[in-house]
Amino acid sequence: MLAAKKVVILGDGAAGTIMANKLRMLTHSSETRIVVIGNSKKHYFKPDGVHIPFKLKRYQNSVKPTRFLFNYGVEYIFDEATGIDVSQRTVRLKSGNSTSYDYLIIATGDRFDYNEIPGYIGEARHFYDLQHSLELANILDSFNGGKIVIGPSSIPYQCPPAPYEFTFLLDKYLRDRGIRDKTEIHYTFPLNRVFTMENVANFVNRLFDERGIITHTLFNVESINGLNKTVTSIEGEDVKYDLLIMVPPHKGQKMITDSELAGPSGYIDVDRHKLSYKDYDDVFAIGDATNLPISKAGATAHFESEYLANRIAHEISGNVYDETYNGEVACTTITGAGKAMTLYFSYDRPPRAEFQSKMDYLLKWTSADTYFSGMLRGIM
Ligand SMILES: Cc1cc2nc3c(=O)[nH]c(=O)nc-3n(C[C@H](O)[C@H](O)[C@H](O)COP(=O)(O)OP(=O)(O)OC[C@H]3O[C@@H](n4cnc5c(N)ncnc54)[C@H](O)[C@@H]3O)c2cc1C
Repeated sequence: MLAAKKVVILGDGAAGTIMANKLRMLTHSSETRIVVIGNSKKHYFKPDGVHIPFKLKRYQNSVKPTRFLFNYGVEYIFDEATGIDVSQRTVRLKSGNSTSYDYLIIATGDRFDYNEIPGYIGEARHFYDLQHSLELANILDSFNGGKIVIGPSSIPYQCPPAPYEFTFLLDKYLRDRGIRDKTEIHYTFPLNRVFTMENVANFVNRLFDERGIITHTLFNVESINGLNKTVTSIEGEDVKYDLLIMVPPHKGQKMITDSELAGPSGYIDVDRHKLSYKDYDDVFAIGDATNLPISKAGATAHFESEYLANRIAHEISGNVYDETYNGEVACTTITGAGKAMTLYFSYDRPPRAEFQSKMDYLLKWTSADTYFSGMLRGIM
């Protein structure tokens, strides 16, 4: 009997967990050993970060212990990868151990690089992790009017619609508190429109206009001056604020750059259809860790895992798998009171914007439950 193939997955977030659980469902443990190495004790459902600052969700329901999210037969090792050697098929770990693999899947996500923007730390707020969302809830509580400036500081960042979704919710929150007429909301965006995709940008712009939200396009944040409360763009525009909510600059993991799998950005170039790294047919990257020109989203990780788990399962059992990953992404965003919009698109198919519905709202509202019970488990 042949030895089981060892599939090592680095990263215990959305991509790593879905990938491991899907592959476990498709392969027998006699033919595949699945090992996940990750350094997060808790798994946080990040989309809830948009709601937590407005106290629309209790954070306790957005967090689960990572270890218990893996299906039976997935080995989970709490450790951190410190180096990858693709020529030797080994991964070094912080514990001092190392591990070999037959297949390596890199799903280490990305990180915030606050130092990219002088003045960011201690002055700008955000909702991109649990701690900062909770802090923002307290800050909004004591906010009684003034000028709020919101936006992504640069591209790429996770979940491209999240900043405009937050802005719609902020507008409603301020109206509900009766202080919208005492508040100016300014939205900044790095490109020459308010979103990457033109039809979505036009749609969001119209909703912004209806709600009196002022926009500043071609705004890539260069620096923040907390003394005179000004944020300055690389393009040379200064905007004053009372409260600054800026998505921090994102980068891939330093360990990836140190391992020479990527340049300074830390994002790994992979084949856009096969998700493989360079000429290696045993090294892949999925989720936010890649340099693919698509949304950094849990939904992307989900579609990528579906493709890759099927491909590896077919290969291991000696069958041919002809499918490819075609850049599929789906993303549901709340657009206002009781309504949401789902964008579904791929490399060749642009999203259809403009359709808002109550069904989409319900889909979004229950998404943490669906995520933990179905999506992460590899059932969906
Ligand atoms: C505010 C917000 C709202 C969002 N809304 C949506 C939404 O509505 N829909 C949607 O689809 N997506 C949304 N996203 C994006 C989505 O959460 C991410 O795209 C998704 O989590 C990416 O999954 P990932 O596994 O690639 O990265 P992550 O989930 O970040 O996981 C990476 C994991 O790797 C671990 N790791 C890192 N380095 C190492 C190492 N060296 N060794 C071992 N482990 C390591 C980390 O601890 C982490 O657990 C949102 C994100 C945010 C911040």
